[in-house]
This record gives sequence, structure tokens and C-alpha cells, in this order.
Amino acid sequence: MTPLREPPPVASLTYAQYAGWACCWCGTSLLDVTGAVSAGIARGQAGAHVLDIEVYACPGCAPSDPGRPEHHCQGDPK
Ligand SMILES: [Zn+2]
Repeated sequence: MTPLREPPPVASLTYAQYAGWACCWCGTSLLDVTGAVSAGIARGQAGAHVLDIEVYACPGCAPSDPGRPEHHCQGDPK
């Protein structure tokens, strides 16, 4: 598996994305989606506190999705 991209930094995540409830890239709720996968570790820091956390992606944004490697969703970083 070759990740296509790193997850966004923690500072750019919504609470739902940080909590793993939403896709870290497009923001789709993962609560009613099957096939969500780990997107890797989002990096962040607040003062002395490391906020690194594992975040998740919907199937359409999944880095390892072999069927739709060119998928782009609304929330793609510019
Ligand atoms: Zn997504």
C-alpha cells in the first residue's frame, strides 16, 4: 500500500474529524459509512502538548483505494 497523501494537520481538522467521526479530507460523517479506513497520523502540537492522532478517511478518500485513485472530493485541500 502506498499512501497518496498525508492527513491534514490537526489544526485544520474539525472536532468530528479529530475524534474520528468524519473523513479527515472531505468531512463526510463516518458514523453511517462502512469501509472507513485509517488515513494515518495527523500531526499537531499546542504548546508542550503533542496532539498527534490517528484520523480516518471515507472509502472515496481512502489512500489505498485501488479502484478510484483519482478521486477528489469537495474538501480537498487547495
Ligand atoms: Zn472523504
